[in-house]
Amino acid sequence: MGSTTQELHILFFPFLAPGHIIPTVDLAKLFASRGVKTTILTTTGNASSIQPSIDQANDSCSLRHPIALSLLPLPAAEAGLPVGCENVTGIPFTDPDTRFKFITMIELLRQPFARVLRELLPDAVVTDFLLPWTQDIATELAVPRLVFHGTNLFSRCASHCMNHFKVLESVPAGSAQSFVLPGLPHRIEMRRSQFWDPDKIPGLMVLLDQIKNSEERSYGVVANSYYELEPDYAEHYRKVVGRRVWNVGPVSLCNRNEMEKSRRGDETSIDCNECLSWLNTKKPGSVVYVCFGSMYELPIAQIREIAFGLEASDKPFILAVRVVRGNDSDWLPEGFEEEVVGRRKGLIIRGWAPQILILNHEAVGGFVTHCGWNSCLEGVSAGVPMITWPMFAEQFFNERLIVDVLKVGVGVGVVEHAGMGAERRVVTGEEIRRAVGRVMDGGEEAEEMRRRARELAEMARRAVEEGGSSYADVGKLIDELIERRKRAGTE
Ligand code: UDP
Repeated sequence: MGSTTQELHILFFPFLAPGHIIPTVDLAKLFASRGVKTTILTTTGNASSIQPSIDQANDSCSLRHPIALSLLPLPAAEAGLPVGCENVTGIPFTDPDTRFKFITMIELLRQPFARVLRELLPDAVVTDFLLPWTQDIATELAVPRLVFHGTNLFSRCASHCMNHFKVLESVPAGSAQSFVLPGLPHRIEMRRSQFWDPDKIPGLMVLLDQIKNSEERSYGVVANSYYELEPDYAEHYRKVVGRRVWNVGPVSLCNRNEMEKSRRGDETSIDCNECLSWLNTKKPGSVVYVCFGSMYELPIAQIREIAFGLEASDKPFILAVRVVRGNDSDWLPEGFEEEVVGRRKGLIIRGWAPQILILNHEAVGGFVTHCGWNSCLEGVSAGVPMITWPMFAEQFFNERLIVDVLKVGVGVGVVEHAGMGAERRVVTGEEIRRAVGRVMDGGEEAEEMRRRARELAEMARRAVEEGGSSYADVGKLIDELIERRKRAGTE
C-alpha cells in the first residue's frame, strides 16, 4: 500500500436494517484500520445503533482516521410510513406490503445522497444492493460504486443460475418435487416452496431487475466471505456470473476484544458479564445457542415447541428471542423459565443478544440459526456447527451452503419460505430435539462436522490476518483505488 492511502476516502451506505448496518460498520472499521478515511451514511433515526460501535473503534487508537458518521433525515411520513419508522425492524414481519414499501421508500434519499456524494467526492462508495439507485448518482459523479450484498458467493451464483436458466418457470407452483440447480460446482437440490412468490409482492420483479442492472454497471462487488470458504464459487462468480469481486470477510472478525464483541448493533438485553459467567460454568462444547436474527418474529406456538425441544435435548442452552409475533407476554410454556433458569440449565434473552461474544465462548457447541448470512458466517468463524432453520430472503441458499457444501450443519427440516409474512408450519419440539441431537450428541457425523467447523474457523482467522486472502483483497482494492485516483489526477 502506498503512502497516499491516508487520503483515500470511502463512503459506506448500508440498507436500513441491522443485518445490513452491522456488517457495514465492520467493513468501515476494516478499511479504517488499513489507513483509509471512512464515512458511514445513514439516517438520523439509525445513528444510535451505530455511534457506540464507531466511538469504540475511534477510541481504540488503532485507526489512522476516525470513522465519521454522516446523517440524513428520512422523510418516512412523506412515503406514508409511520413517523420515526427508519429501520425495517420497525415494521411487523406480518405486514409485507409496508416492508416492501420501506425498501423502495429509501429512494426518497436520492437527492440528499447526491448532495452528500457531491460534497464529499470520495474515492469510492460502497452501497447496499437494496439501494440500486445509488449507482445512477455514482455514475453521474464518476465515483466508483461497489455493491455490498452482505451474502456469500454461493448464494449469488445460485441466484444467478435460477435467473439464467429460468428454473422456476418449469416448476409448477405448489410442486413438492425437488429440482437440481444446473451448472453449479456442486449438486444442489431445492424446492419451489423455498422461494418467494413474486406475484404476491407487486413491484418485486422490477426491484430485482434494477438490482441486477445496477450491479452490472457497478465497479464490482465487496463480499463478506473469504476465498478458502468457497473457492469453487469465487471462481464461478468471476467466470460465469462475470463480476469483479473482493472477498474481505469475515468482517465480524475485526471485533477483537470483549467490548467490541458486546457492543455490536443494539444495546444488549442482558449484562454481558452475567452471560459470560453463566457460560463459564458450562463444559466446552456443551451449550446450544438459539437465535433467529434481528427481524424474524417468532410465533408463540413456535417458541413453545422450541422450549419443548430444548428441554427434551437435555443440553444447556441460551435462547435469544428478539421479537414475538402476538401479544401474549407469557410466551413460554408455564413454569419453563423458572425451571430452566432456576436450575441454571438455560438462559433466556428477551431482546438483543451479544451474539459474537456468545458464539466465541468455548462452552458453545451448537447454533440453531435462521441462516441470515451474518449469523452463518459468525458461526463458521467461531467454529460452531449449526442447526439450520431458514426463514426468508436468500437463507435457503445459505442453508445448502452450510449443510451440503461446507458440511458443518444439519437442517431442522423446514422447506417453506416465510415470504414477506406468510404463516408457516410449526416445527415440532421432537424435530428440534432430533436436529440438536445430531449436532450435539457426539457420534461420527457430529465429530466430523465439529472438525470441519474448527478447520473453517482457523482458515477464517488466517484469511483476515496479514498475509491472508481477505487481508490481501482489502489491500488490492485500496491499491487499485489509489491508482485510479492517480490516473484521474493526471488526465
Ligand atoms: N444479532 C445480534 N444479537 C441478536 C440478533 C442479531 O448481535 O440478538 C446480530 C448478529 O450477530 C448478526 C446480525 O445481528 O450480525 C443479524 O444478521 P443476519 O444476517 O444473521 O440476520 P438478519 O437479522 O438480517 O435476518
